[in-house]
Amino acid sequence: MSSGEVRTHSAVHVIKGAVQKVIGAKWTASVYVSGRHGRLTVQFDRKPTDEEVARIEQAANGKVAEAAEVLEFEMERQEAEGHFGDAIYDLFPVPEGITLLRIVRIPDWNVNCCNESHVDNTSEIGKVRLGKPRFRNARRELEIEFDLAD
Ligand SMILES: [Zn+2]
Repeated sequence: MSSGEVRTHSAVHVIKGAVQKVIGAKWTASVYVSGRHGRLTVQFDRKPTDEEVARIEQAANGKVAEAAEVLEFEMERQEAEGHFGDAIYDLFPVPEGITLLRIVRIPDWNVNCCNESHVDNTSEIGKVRLGKPRFRNARRELEIEFDLAD
């Protein structure tokens, strides 16, 4: 990842937290990052309203403005599961043989096991702009496209 993509990838964690808070979608199906553009695909059962999308964007930018710390640490898998439950997991499974997880945590916002690089502080991400999300009914997936403003 380039340093710009570290910001874009970190934005995925911030947007995940916002999506979970605003519409309750918890499970990530896939993540895509290229330059300042990204896409978060989550499991969901309907198309969100424009107002909900606006609230997700607002919540994400609120977290950026808060300059929240992005914590990264290693944890034994069993301990991490006991501590955070399945919140650390996405729909793509972590192989069973892996017993030590790298956890990325934005306190009170998002926790996920993730091996990518992240910013230290959400303020480094800058403003996030969401595109019009696409809902794939057959797959029950919501694709949320976004760009970093600068
Ligand atoms: Zn990550």
